Amino acid sequence: MNDPIKSILVVGGGTAGWMAAAALAKVLGDGCAIRLVESEEIGTVGVGEATVPHLSLFNRLLEIDEAEFVRQTQGTFKLGIQFNDWSRPGESYIHGFGTIGHDIAMQPFHQFWLKARKLGFADDIGAYSLNTLAASHGRFMTSASDAPANSPLANIAYAYHFDAGLYARYLRGYAEKRGVQRTEGKIAHTVLRPDDGFVESVVLESGERLQADLFIDCSGFRGLLIEQTLHAGYEDWTHWLPCDRALAVACEKVGPPTPYTRSTARKAGWQWRIPLQHRTGNGYVYASAHLSDDEAAASLLANLDGKALGDPRPLRFVTGRRKRSWSRNVVALGLASGFMEPLESTSIFMIQSGISRLLSLFPRRDCSQVLQDRFNRESAWEAERIRDFLILHYHVNQREGDPFWQQCREMAIPDSLRENIALFHDTGSFFRDGNEMFGLVSWVQVMLGQGIMPERYHTLVDQMPEQDLRHFMQSVRNVVESCVEAMPPHEAFIARHCAA
Ligand SMILES: Cc1cc2nc3c(=O)[nH]c(=O)nc-3n(C[C@H](O)[C@H](O)[C@H](O)COP(=O)(O)OP(=O)(O)OC[C@H]3O[C@@H](n4cnc5c(N)ncnc54)[C@H](O)[C@@H]3O)c2cc1C
Repeated sequence: MNDPIKSILVVGGGTAGWMAAAALAKVLGDGCAIRLVESEEIGTVGVGEATVPHLSLFNRLLEIDEAEFVRQTQGTFKLGIQFNDWSRPGESYIHGFGTIGHDIAMQPFHQFWLKARKLGFADDIGAYSLNTLAASHGRFMTSASDAPANSPLANIAYAYHFDAGLYARYLRGYAEKRGVQRTEGKIAHTVLRPDDGFVESVVLESGERLQADLFIDCSGFRGLLIEQTLHAGYEDWTHWLPCDRALAVACEKVGPPTPYTRSTARKAGWQWRIPLQHRTGNGYVYASAHLSDDEAAASLLANLDGKALGDPRPLRFVTGRRKRSWSRNVVALGLASGFMEPLESTSIFMIQSGISRLLSLFPRRDCSQVLQDRFNRESAWEAERIRDFLILHYHVNQREGDPFWQQCREMAIPDSLRENIALFHDTGSFFRDGNEMFGLVSWVQVMLGQGIMPERYHTLVDQMPEQDLRHFMQSVRNVVESCVEAMPPHEAFIARHCAA
């Protein structure tokens, strides 16, 4: 039991399965036999096309060539998310990645902005963010290696949009080249070791038996091993995030792809729009208690840029997290480990962080309890912090007339979120909890965008004379504007570097 892991079976070939197989093959090399089993008949969830900037770290681990990756997945670039009608109809803001302005003497830029706004000479906060301004002008480029280190162009934060099917196919090619064996087939049942209850093997409908030391459950919502076999339990968060269904449909692309994801609030949820090179992905995430499937489909189809490329595909989910994502010799990743709606494109990030957590705590054959406990504790904490950030978008709204939005406004929220809102409302302060996924700039943009305006700014800001503050605000604006002018249109950047 103290021996090293010699064989791993990845159960499932969606985004989670192939990300796990690719990363494990790269890191573990020849020392461990990796097999992936998937069923074409069952298929994958087929969505999950918007990401966050962290994915570039995963690509770096895999030593993936970015231009090739974007080309192969019909990808585009993403500078942030535009939220339309969320605080109230007609209002719009962008949650841009990266920084806003620049900080002075440990004070974040938005504190200076709050004072300038009070004095009447600040523009919208987005005017001081390269990502937000570039996104709204449809411009994009990757960081310029020849830009001065203090230029915003030297360090541009961005993510990707891609075709989920092509992404899994791309990673499959990568993993198979590094020795991962793929088995096509449907798992019929699982065999446990009688002495310790560890999974010994899975048996396919064909009768073939697949054994391994460690199992990675990437079987999607069903959680074939982690739940159906090991009954790890599920914490349901529907009372905080009441959307439980989605309809997804692609449509024809009209016009150049925007360098951002769009999220538009609707009667009982929201609609996403994800621009790719060859098509645009769309979906309506909604609460079935407030909207029928037919109404959701009609609303979705009435709000597409171009002709729908098929019928809307229904998806059902229960928001929450698996109580133990690692149990015995099974580690669940992806939808098998829990689900939060794609409002901030966090699921693929959580697969990535699950993989890196597993690699940091990589076990021997006994999968010692202390490793499992730490993995589960870290996973729970990460999910709870993201959960709070998502609830924020729903809870702080001033949309009148829709019972769904009223319910979100009036619902009790977690204490951790209530404290964050109260602190920001008082002095515009935010305290990042350890290494939580979303940092100050994200929280500030969403809190302001949703309509929370702090009553005061940080007292230290008054150390800067008003004239200097005017000059500072204007110079940040000028720098951001001139940088955006220097950036090419998003479509031109793709055509030049990574057109499919
Ligand atoms: C509406 C919606 C929108 C989303 N949008 C985003 C987004 O924009 N950004 C983001 O980061 N995430 C998003 N996600 C989440 C994202 O889609 C998933 O995290 C990602 O696709 C990973 O899915 P998966 O691989 O865990 O599961 P799946 O894609 O469901 O794959 C499960 C795999 O298990 C296999 N399998 C299951 N049972 C068996 C069996 N008995 N035998 C053999 N094989 C089996 C299946 O064949 C399949 O290969 C979204 C999710 C939903 C529901």
